[in-house]
Amino acid sequence: MSREPLLSADDAVSQRTATRSLSLARDEDTALRPKRMEDMVGQREVYERLKIAVDAARIRSEPLGHILLDGPPGLGKTTFAMCIPNELGVPLQIASGAALAAPKDLLPYLSNAEAGSVLFIDEIHRLPKTVEEFMYPAMEDFRVDITVGEGISARTVNMSLRPFTIIGATTRTGLLSAPLRDRFQIREHLEFYDQAELTKIVCRNAGKLKIAIDEEAAGKIARCSRGTPRVANNRLRWVRDYATSRANGEITLPVAEEALSMLQVDVLGLDGQDRKYLETIHRVFHGGPVGVEALAHTLNTATDTLSDEVEPFLLRAELVVRTPRGRRLTAAAYKHLGVDPPDDLPRLLDADEESTQSLF
Ligand code: ADP
Repeated sequence: MSREPLLSADDAVSQRTATRSLSLARDEDTALRPKRMEDMVGQREVYERLKIAVDAARIRSEPLGHILLDGPPGLGKTTFAMCIPNELGVPLQIASGAALAAPKDLLPYLSNAEAGSVLFIDEIHRLPKTVEEFMYPAMEDFRVDITVGEGISARTVNMSLRPFTIIGATTRTGLLSAPLRDRFQIREHLEFYDQAELTKIVCRNAGKLKIAIDEEAAGKIARCSRGTPRVANNRLRWVRDYATSRANGEITLPVAEEALSMLQVDVLGLDGQDRKYLETIHRVFHGGPVGVEALAHTLNTATDTLSDEVEPFLLRAELVVRTPRGRRLTAAAYKHLGVDPPDDLPRLLDADEESTQSLF
């Protein structure tokens, strides 16, 4: 009996190409990611506190306390988590909260964890409750309780683990249960980067990508990067491609400006998705307040994408405020969109503020 191949020849080729370009992109990511904490730019207070904890653990030859890192995507949570084992000279295992659907998925990571090693769990807020509860004794007493057998023959076996460190990363600390949050001895919040820090990252990474860039062009890319190193790296790669294809391979200010305007990145560094978000609140919801679900439906986007990726920077740039009644545009957003704000905007914002305070 002839069977349909699972993949046609074309599919297989395009899948191979996609896999290859994915792995190339990953290689470039790895090339740009700092390997040691001291090579990381910015986040100085977080760096200092983590450095002290890491030094103390190394000097005492004890495992480092569990660490929780939170903040918007692309600010360096994974980078810190990868640098810390390098500092300690211990192995690192990487898991993702979304992929750990049941305790049995986490068990191999726990049983493979060597003494003093680090287990990095990205998107830890996505762990199901059962996995979370399974982790409590592992984090506190380095043991897990495993149920073997079923029904009346079921029994619990206690398995001890080697002392290890969990580093959890999340874009949503609010979604973490209090018992899980409390089991992290060190909790750090990562902030957006300023212009000087991003310029330094762009210059350094241009060097790693072996492309010439002048200071002004690096500053332009930094200003257009939404305070986020990952965005800066992506913009830099695009400008590098543009310089290779349309200029003589050097990134000067005019080259950076032309390349970024092709991406429709504006003076505040907002891209098409950010502007569509602001324009939709203005056009469809008359400036707000509007709930994130209604906004996500109208934009045909996932709510998580808006609240994790789009809103943090718009909130920080004070283009939007978040109130108990929903999101509302600020005067700065109207100015950026080039439209007149409603006459009673200050009164509306004051009313929002009062209703926020009444929550506490
Ligand atoms: P997150 O885990 O918070 O989403 P990452 O740690 O993956 O973000 O950071 C994305 C990229 O940004 C990294 O590959 C790295 O090149 C760069 N990056 C992040 N933080 C820094 C930093 N402090 N200094 C230099 N580069 C950084």
